[in-house]
Amino acid sequence: MDYLLDDDALEFRDEMRSFASSIPRQMLLDMDAEKIVFPREFLEEAGRRHLLGPRFSENYGGRSLPWTAEMAGLEEIGVLGTSLACLWSLISIVGEAIEAFGTEEQKEHFLVPMLRGELAAAEGLTEPRGGSDFFGAVTTARRDGDAFVLNGQKRFVVGAEGADVILVYARIEDEPDPKKGMTAFLVERGEGVEVENVYELMGTRGGGTGRLVFRDVRVPLENVLGGEAGLGHGTEVFHRMMVPERLTSAGGAVGMGRACLEIATRYADRRHAFGRKVRQFEGVSFKIAEGLTQLDAARALNHSAAAAIDRGVAAGPARRLVSEAKYFSTEAAWQVVNHSMQILGGIGYTNIYPVERMLRDVRLITIWTGTNEIMKLVIQHEFYREFRDLHFPGRDLEDDASGAGLPGEKIYGGPEEL
Ligand SMILES: Cc1cc2nc3c(=O)[nH]c(=O)nc-3n(C[C@H](O)[C@H](O)[C@H](O)COP(=O)(O)OP(=O)(O)OC[C@H]3O[C@@H](n4cnc5c(N)ncnc54)[C@H](O)[C@@H]3O)c2cc1C
Repeated sequence: MDYLLDDDALEFRDEMRSFASSIPRQMLLDMDAEKIVFPREFLEEAGRRHLLGPRFSENYGGRSLPWTAEMAGLEEIGVLGTSLACLWSLISIVGEAIEAFGTEEQKEHFLVPMLRGELAAAEGLTEPRGGSDFFGAVTTARRDGDAFVLNGQKRFVVGAEGADVILVYARIEDEPDPKKGMTAFLVERGEGVEVENVYELMGTRGGGTGRLVFRDVRVPLENVLGGEAGLGHGTEVFHRMMVPERLTSAGGAVGMGRACLEIATRYADRRHAFGRKVRQFEGVSFKIAEGLTQLDAARALNHSAAAAIDRGVAAGPARRLVSEAKYFSTEAAWQVVNHSMQILGGIGYTNIYPVERMLRDVRLITIWTGTNEIMKLVIQHEFYREFRDLHFPGRDLEDDASGAGLPGEKIYGGPEEL
């Protein structure tokens, strides 16, 4: 779908492809090992190549590229699997919050080194009591002079072990309304921030995903995102961050699906059974056709959602498109990777090919960055809002839905029969 991209986007996409293919195989294997060491050199190399946060302003070290270009690049990094793609994406996600809401000092202190690959970022939203119900978060921040004292915990934080700065949401202690009290803090690793558990995961092992506990962690006012003006504005930060949160998942998903489908396609052209190439059996080749169609549809939807953001489409419809992209692409990737393993037969279930690692990785992406159930909740919610403004020519459809019957029409089971 190169015809959807302009020259700058194509150039960025090609640089990302060349970076992804330069990643040593050993690093990918290390990302899946029992004891993971945070892959700082991956971020450093991406920073050296000027590939992190491409849509951020050139003033801070980005490239001022549109979302459509970033989506094209994300597909290339997705090919490496969720661990590395997520570390790349976290710069985009946390960077969005800092660029949009941070003070100039925060941009210089955090965003600039993040884009150089010198500062690893993480985000702490999910708590043990639940991730979907974000505003039910119970981590609190108590004001104490020119600082805040944080208490609480965040679960499933990628980079809990390894990241230098964590964007943490906490409620200002004396504000009873969670939406008004929610505030984003840039917490630097230090005294009081404890990694209590690094999870043993089914896949996506390379990020150092763990549970962080904050026990009387003192965060200076200058680390409140946006400073004094940022107090109580966490809700806006959250909604803004959900765009990169979900688009990065959507973009990476297509890369994962593509990588596995390419392996399966090549394999089916070489593998023989019953005297023919297995691709000559429809049971195999139709899976390839279906997978290709799903990925093309996902890529087109992703591009459309990215273009909507670039063109400043209103928040509601944009949120719907972004959620559709995340939902559709991650479901498509899950099916494509699963079918790719089926095409490979038994060898697909071994670690000879990366498909089994990808299958373990891809299972996650329908769950994180907002589960796909939450995506559907957002999609229908936003559609009902848009729906109110839609106008149908002729009769008002409400008449029929009321159950009272349209003029001159008898409805069986309608009120007049009861
Ligand atoms: C490997 C990994 C890495 C992660 N990385 C991060 C990270 O870096 N930072 C971070 O903050 N979080 C991270 N997460 C957390 C992730 O975003 C959450 O797991 C996810 O949002 C779901 O929250 P939960 O696990 O608490 O499930 P719950 O919210 O408890 O949901 C349980 C089930 O109920 C469903 N459900 C809940 N509410 C509704 C509803 N209203 N309608 C329909 N269904 C509903 C959900 O879809 C789900 O199926 C990560 C998770 C994992 C596993």
